[in-house]
Amino acid sequence: MRILKGSNLVTHTSLSGKLVYLSILFIFISDFMQATLDLMAASPAFFIGFVFIISLMVGSFLNVLIYRLPVMMERTWQAEIAEYSASQGQSTPNSTKQETFNLVKPDSTCPKCQHKIRSWENIPVISWLLLKGKCSQCKNPIAVRYPLVELATALLSTWVAWHFGFGLAGFAAVVATWLLIAMTFIDLDTMLLPDQLTLSLLWLGLLLSIGSPFVSSHDALIGAAAGYLSLWSLYWAFKLLTGKEGMGYGDFKLLAALGAWVGWQHLPVVILLSSFVGAVVGITLLTVQGKDKSQPIPFGPYLAAAGFLTLLYGDWIVAQYWQWLGL
Ligand SMILES: [Zn+2]
Repeated sequence: MRILKGSNLVTHTSLSGKLVYLSILFIFISDFMQATLDLMAASPAFFIGFVFIISLMVGSFLNVLIYRLPVMMERTWQAEIAEYSASQGQSTPNSTKQETFNLVKPDSTCPKCQHKIRSWENIPVISWLLLKGKCSQCKNPIAVRYPLVELATALLSTWVAWHFGFGLAGFAAVVATWLLIAMTFIDLDTMLLPDQLTLSLLWLGLLLSIGSPFVSSHDALIGAAAGYLSLWSLYWAFKLLTGKEGMGYGDFKLLAALGAWVGWQHLPVVILLSSFVGAVVGITLLTVQGKDKSQPIPFGPYLAAAGFLTLLYGDWIVAQYWQWLGL
Protein backbone atom coordinates (compact mmCIF):
# COMPACT_ATOMS: atom_id res chain seq x y z
CA MET A 1 0.00 0.00 0.00
CA ARG A 2 2.73 2.40 0.99
CA ILE A 3 4.83 1.45 -2.03
CA LEU A 4 1.89 2.08 -4.33
CA LYS A 5 1.34 5.52 -2.79
CA GLY A 6 5.01 6.30 -3.16
CA SER A 7 5.13 5.34 -6.83
CA ASN A 8 2.01 7.42 -7.49
CA LEU A 9 3.70 10.37 -5.86
CA VAL A 10 6.79 9.93 -8.02
CA THR A 11 4.85 9.85 -11.30
CA HIS A 12 2.80 12.82 -10.14
CA THR A 13 5.80 15.02 -9.33
CA SER A 14 7.71 14.01 -12.47
CA LEU A 15 4.66 14.84 -14.57
CA SER A 16 4.21 18.30 -13.03
CA GLY A 17 7.99 18.78 -13.28
CA LYS A 18 7.77 18.03 -16.99
CA LEU A 19 4.89 20.48 -17.35
CA VAL A 20 6.93 23.21 -15.66
CA TYR A 21 9.88 22.48 -17.96
CA LEU A 22 7.60 22.48 -21.00
CA SER A 23 5.99 25.81 -20.07
CA ILE A 24 9.40 27.41 -19.46
CA LEU A 25 10.56 26.04 -22.82
CA PHE A 26 7.38 27.33 -24.46
CA ILE A 27 7.80 30.82 -22.96
CA PHE A 28 11.45 30.83 -24.02
CA ILE A 29 10.63 29.74 -27.59
CA SER A 30 7.74 32.19 -27.99
CA ASP A 31 9.89 35.03 -26.60
CA PHE A 32 12.68 34.04 -28.96
CA MET A 33 10.27 33.95 -31.92
CA GLN A 34 8.80 37.32 -30.97
CA ALA A 35 12.29 38.81 -30.74
CA THR A 36 13.21 37.30 -34.12
CA LEU A 37 10.02 38.68 -35.73
CA ASP A 38 10.66 42.13 -34.20
CA LEU A 39 14.19 42.09 -35.55
CA MET A 40 12.95 41.07 -39.02
CA ALA A 41 10.35 43.86 -39.00
CA ALA A 42 13.01 46.39 -37.98
CA SER A 43 15.80 45.25 -40.29
CA PRO A 44 15.12 44.25 -43.93
CA ALA A 45 18.68 42.84 -44.14
CA PHE A 46 18.00 40.52 -41.19
CA PHE A 47 14.70 39.41 -42.75
CA ILE A 48 16.34 38.63 -46.11
CA GLY A 49 19.26 36.84 -44.41
CA PHE A 50 16.85 34.81 -42.30
CA VAL A 51 14.87 33.77 -45.39
CA PHE A 52 18.13 32.82 -47.16
CA ILE A 53 19.29 30.50 -44.36
CA ILE A 54 15.87 28.92 -43.76
CA SER A 55 15.37 28.40 -47.51
CA LEU A 56 18.74 26.67 -47.86
CA MET A 57 17.56 24.14 -45.26
CA VAL A 58 14.13 23.89 -46.90
CA GLY A 59 15.88 23.31 -50.24
CA SER A 60 17.60 20.31 -48.66
CA PHE A 61 14.20 19.00 -47.56
CA LEU A 62 12.78 19.68 -51.06
CA ASN A 63 15.44 17.33 -52.50
CA VAL A 64 14.02 14.59 -50.27
CA LEU A 65 10.43 15.51 -51.14
CA ILE A 66 11.15 15.59 -54.90
CA TYR A 67 12.59 12.09 -54.79
CA ARG A 68 10.31 10.46 -52.24
CA LEU A 69 6.82 11.86 -52.88
CA PRO A 70 6.40 10.17 -56.32
CA VAL A 71 7.72 6.88 -54.87
CA MET A 72 5.21 7.17 -52.01
CA MET A 73 2.40 7.83 -54.51
CA GLU A 74 3.39 4.81 -56.58
CA ARG A 75 3.43 2.60 -53.48
CA THR A 76 -0.04 3.84 -52.51
CA TRP A 77 -1.37 2.99 -55.99
CA GLN A 78 0.20 -0.47 -55.85
CA ALA A 79 -1.32 -1.07 -52.43
CA GLU A 80 -4.73 0.03 -53.73
CA ILE A 81 -4.47 -2.25 -56.76
CA ALA A 82 -3.44 -5.15 -54.53
CA GLU A 83 -6.35 -4.43 -52.19
CA TYR A 84 -8.79 -4.30 -55.10
CA SER A 85 -7.44 -7.53 -56.59
CA ALA A 86 -7.73 -9.20 -53.21
CA SER A 87 -11.34 -8.02 -52.87
CA GLN A 88 -12.03 -9.57 -56.28
CA GLY A 89 -10.54 -12.85 -55.08
CA GLN A 90 -7.51 -12.61 -57.39
CA SER A 91 -4.01 -13.56 -56.39
CA THR A 92 -1.82 -10.59 -55.50
CA PRO A 93 1.88 -11.06 -56.22
CA ASN A 94 2.69 -7.57 -54.93
CA SER A 95 0.78 -7.81 -51.69
CA THR A 96 3.87 -8.66 -49.62
CA LYS A 97 4.21 -6.13 -46.85
CA GLN A 98 6.44 -3.22 -47.90
CA GLU A 99 8.94 -1.52 -45.62
CA THR A 100 8.07 1.91 -44.25
CA PHE A 101 8.84 4.62 -46.78
CA ASN A 102 7.86 8.20 -46.08
CA LEU A 103 9.49 11.64 -45.95
CA VAL A 104 11.34 10.74 -42.73
CA LYS A 105 12.00 6.98 -42.93
CA PRO A 106 14.23 5.30 -44.00
CA ASP A 107 17.32 7.47 -43.38
CA SER A 108 19.01 8.91 -46.47
CA THR A 109 21.76 6.70 -47.86
CA CYS A 110 24.20 6.82 -50.75
CA PRO A 111 22.39 5.17 -53.69
CA LYS A 112 25.61 3.38 -54.71
CA CYS A 113 27.04 1.99 -51.45
CA GLN A 114 24.07 2.42 -49.04
CA HIS A 115 26.33 4.37 -46.68
CA LYS A 116 24.12 6.26 -44.22
CA ILE A 117 24.33 10.05 -44.72
CA ARG A 118 25.56 11.56 -41.43
CA SER A 119 24.32 14.97 -40.33
CA TRP A 120 27.58 16.77 -41.17
CA GLU A 121 27.29 15.36 -44.71
CA ASN A 122 23.81 16.85 -44.99
CA ILE A 123 24.54 20.58 -44.58
CA PRO A 124 23.03 22.37 -47.60
CA VAL A 125 25.56 23.18 -50.36
CA ILE A 126 28.52 23.28 -47.88
CA SER A 127 28.69 19.49 -47.41
CA TRP A 128 28.66 18.91 -51.15
CA LEU A 129 31.55 21.39 -51.54
CA LEU A 130 33.50 19.86 -48.61
CA LEU A 131 33.00 16.36 -50.02
CA LYS A 132 34.00 17.71 -53.47
CA GLY A 133 30.76 16.23 -54.85
CA LYS A 134 31.69 12.66 -53.88
CA CYS A 135 30.29 10.13 -51.40
CA SER A 136 32.55 10.03 -48.30
CA GLN A 137 32.58 6.22 -48.43
CA CYS A 138 32.59 4.97 -52.02
CA LYS A 139 33.75 8.21 -53.72
CA ASN A 140 31.02 7.91 -56.36
CA PRO A 141 29.83 11.34 -57.54
CA ILE A 142 26.83 12.97 -55.79
CA ALA A 143 24.57 14.65 -58.38
CA VAL A 144 25.26 18.39 -58.66
CA ARG A 145 21.49 18.84 -58.79
CA TYR A 146 21.20 18.50 -55.00
CA PRO A 147 23.26 21.61 -54.12
CA LEU A 148 21.75 23.41 -57.13
CA VAL A 149 18.18 22.82 -55.90
CA GLU A 150 19.25 24.06 -52.43
CA LEU A 151 20.91 27.14 -53.86
CA ALA A 152 18.02 27.87 -56.26
CA THR A 153 15.53 27.59 -53.38
CA ALA A 154 17.58 30.00 -51.28
CA LEU A 155 18.15 32.53 -54.09
CA LEU A 156 14.56 32.55 -55.39
CA SER A 157 13.17 32.85 -51.84
CA THR A 158 15.59 35.70 -51.10
CA TRP A 159 14.45 37.46 -54.28
CA VAL A 160 10.81 37.09 -53.14
CA ALA A 161 11.62 38.32 -49.61
CA TRP A 162 13.45 41.32 -51.01
CA HIS A 163 10.59 42.07 -53.43
CA PHE A 164 7.71 41.91 -50.93
CA GLY A 165 9.58 42.79 -47.75
CA PHE A 166 8.68 41.67 -44.24
CA GLY A 167 5.00 40.80 -43.78
CA LEU A 168 2.27 38.35 -44.69
CA ALA A 169 2.79 38.75 -48.46
CA GLY A 170 6.52 38.10 -48.14
CA PHE A 171 6.18 34.96 -45.98
CA ALA A 172 3.31 33.61 -48.09
CA ALA A 173 5.14 34.15 -51.39
CA VAL A 174 8.24 32.39 -49.99
CA VAL A 175 6.13 29.32 -49.10
CA ALA A 176 4.52 29.39 -52.57
CA THR A 177 8.03 29.49 -54.09
CA TRP A 178 9.03 26.36 -52.16
CA LEU A 179 5.92 24.50 -53.38
CA LEU A 180 6.49 25.62 -56.98
CA ILE A 181 10.12 24.43 -56.92
CA ALA A 182 9.06 21.00 -55.63
CA MET A 183 6.37 20.72 -58.32
CA THR A 184 8.76 21.82 -61.07
CA PHE A 185 11.30 19.09 -60.36
CA ILE A 186 8.75 16.35 -59.66
CA ASP A 187 7.03 17.11 -62.98
CA LEU A 188 10.38 17.14 -64.82
CA ASP A 189 11.36 13.78 -63.29
CA THR A 190 8.07 11.90 -63.37
CA MET A 191 5.50 13.92 -65.38
CA LEU A 192 3.40 14.02 -62.21
CA LEU A 193 2.02 16.98 -60.28
CA PRO A 194 1.02 15.53 -56.89
CA ASP A 195 -2.32 16.65 -55.45
CA GLN A 196 -0.56 17.10 -52.10
CA LEU A 197 1.31 20.03 -53.63
CA THR A 198 -1.13 21.51 -56.18
CA LEU A 199 -4.09 21.40 -53.79
CA SER A 200 -2.03 22.73 -50.87
CA LEU A 201 -1.06 25.71 -53.02
CA LEU A 202 -4.70 26.17 -54.06
CA TRP A 203 -6.08 26.10 -50.50
CA LEU A 204 -3.30 28.31 -49.22
CA GLY A 205 -4.00 30.89 -51.94
CA LEU A 206 -7.75 30.84 -51.25
CA LEU A 207 -7.36 31.13 -47.47
CA LEU A 208 -4.74 33.87 -47.75
CA SER A 209 -7.03 35.93 -49.97
CA ILE A 210 -9.17 36.58 -46.85
CA GLY A 211 -6.43 38.98 -45.75
CA SER A 212 -5.87 40.12 -49.39
CA PRO A 213 -2.04 40.26 -49.34
CA PHE A 214 -2.12 39.85 -53.13
CA VAL A 215 -5.72 39.81 -54.37
CA SER A 216 -9.21 39.86 -52.84
CA SER A 217 -11.12 36.64 -52.07
CA HIS A 218 -13.49 37.52 -54.89
CA ASP A 219 -10.68 37.66 -57.47
CA ALA A 220 -8.94 34.60 -56.01
CA LEU A 221 -12.06 32.45 -56.16
CA ILE A 222 -12.87 33.38 -59.75
CA GLY A 223 -9.17 33.01 -60.59
CA ALA A 224 -9.09 29.44 -59.24
CA ALA A 225 -12.23 28.37 -61.11
CA ALA A 226 -11.22 30.12 -64.34
CA GLY A 227 -7.71 28.68 -64.13
CA TYR A 228 -9.02 25.15 -63.84
CA LEU A 229 -11.71 25.52 -66.49
CA SER A 230 -9.50 27.21 -69.09
CA LEU A 231 -7.00 24.35 -69.26
CA TRP A 232 -9.75 21.76 -68.81
CA SER A 233 -11.61 23.06 -71.89
CA LEU A 234 -8.36 23.32 -73.86
CA TYR A 235 -7.61 19.71 -72.93
CA TRP A 236 -10.99 18.48 -74.16
CA ALA A 237 -10.94 20.59 -77.34
CA PHE A 238 -7.49 19.20 -78.15
CA LYS A 239 -8.56 15.64 -77.32
CA LEU A 240 -11.73 15.82 -79.42
CA LEU A 241 -9.86 17.32 -82.37
CA THR A 242 -6.71 15.17 -82.35
CA GLY A 243 -7.57 12.22 -80.13
CA LYS A 244 -4.44 12.97 -78.08
CA GLU A 245 -4.00 14.17 -74.53
CA GLY A 246 -2.05 17.43 -74.48
CA MET A 247 -1.66 17.77 -70.73
CA GLY A 248 -2.79 16.29 -67.45
CA TYR A 249 -5.25 17.08 -64.69
CA GLY A 250 -2.33 18.14 -62.51
CA ASP A 251 -1.79 21.08 -64.87
CA PHE A 252 -5.43 22.22 -64.42
CA LYS A 253 -5.03 22.05 -60.64
CA LEU A 254 -1.78 23.97 -60.75
CA LEU A 255 -3.31 26.76 -62.87
CA ALA A 256 -6.32 26.82 -60.51
CA ALA A 257 -3.88 27.29 -57.62
CA LEU A 258 -2.02 30.05 -59.46
CA GLY A 259 -5.35 31.73 -60.25
CA ALA A 260 -6.06 31.84 -56.52
CA TRP A 261 -2.74 33.61 -55.91
CA VAL A 262 -2.65 36.11 -58.79
CA GLY A 263 -6.42 36.60 -59.32
CA TRP A 264 -8.42 36.08 -62.52
CA GLN A 265 -7.21 39.39 -63.99
CA HIS A 266 -3.65 38.08 -64.26
CA LEU A 267 -4.47 34.56 -65.48
CA PRO A 268 -3.94 35.53 -69.16
CA VAL A 269 -0.41 36.65 -68.23
CA VAL A 270 0.33 33.24 -66.66
CA ILE A 271 -1.09 31.36 -69.66
CA LEU A 272 0.69 33.51 -72.28
CA LEU A 273 4.04 33.48 -70.44
CA SER A 274 3.98 29.72 -69.87
CA SER A 275 2.89 28.91 -73.45
CA PHE A 276 5.51 31.25 -74.89
CA VAL A 277 8.40 29.87 -72.80
CA GLY A 278 7.07 26.32 -73.24
CA ALA A 279 6.99 26.72 -77.02
CA VAL A 280 10.49 28.23 -77.16
CA VAL A 281 12.00 25.49 -74.97
CA GLY A 282 9.99 22.77 -76.74
CA ILE A 283 11.11 23.86 -80.22
CA THR A 284 14.72 24.23 -79.01
CA LEU A 285 14.68 20.69 -77.58
CA LEU A 286 13.15 19.36 -80.81
CA THR A 287 15.85 20.95 -82.99
CA VAL A 288 18.89 20.62 -80.69
CA GLN A 289 18.29 17.18 -79.20
CA GLY A 290 16.11 15.88 -82.02
CA LYS A 291 13.58 14.76 -79.42
CA ASP A 292 10.67 12.67 -80.63
CA LYS A 293 7.68 14.90 -81.35
CA SER A 294 5.25 12.48 -79.76
CA GLN A 295 7.29 12.42 -76.54
CA PRO A 296 5.39 14.44 -73.95
CA ILE A 297 7.00 17.55 -72.43
CA PRO A 298 5.91 18.42 -68.87
CA PHE A 299 3.96 21.69 -68.77
CA GLY A 300 4.09 22.12 -64.98
CA PRO A 301 7.54 23.76 -64.86
CA TYR A 302 6.43 26.47 -67.32
CA LEU A 303 3.21 27.12 -65.42
CA ALA A 304 5.18 27.28 -62.17
CA ALA A 305 7.75 29.72 -63.59
CA ALA A 306 5.07 31.89 -65.22
CA GLY A 307 3.02 31.90 -62.00
CA PHE A 308 6.08 32.89 -59.97
CA LEU A 309 6.91 35.83 -62.28
CA THR A 310 3.26 36.94 -62.45
CA LEU A 311 2.94 36.92 -58.65
CA LEU A 312 5.94 39.25 -58.45
CA TYR A 313 5.57 41.35 -61.60
CA GLY A 314 2.00 40.79 -62.89
CA ASP A 315 0.99 44.45 -62.55
CA TRP A 316 4.18 45.64 -64.19
CA ILE A 317 3.83 43.17 -67.12
CA VAL A 318 0.22 44.24 -67.76
CA ALA A 319 1.20 47.94 -67.60
CA GLN A 320 4.02 47.37 -70.10
CA TYR A 321 1.62 45.55 -72.41
CA TRP A 322 -0.91 48.40 -72.41
CA GLN A 323 1.87 50.90 -72.97
CA TRP A 324 3.14 48.84 -75.89
CA LEU A 325 -0.35 48.86 -77.39
CA GLY A 326 -0.29 52.66 -77.00
CA LEU A 327 -3.24 52.79 -74.62
ZN1 LIG B 1 28.56 5.85 -51.49
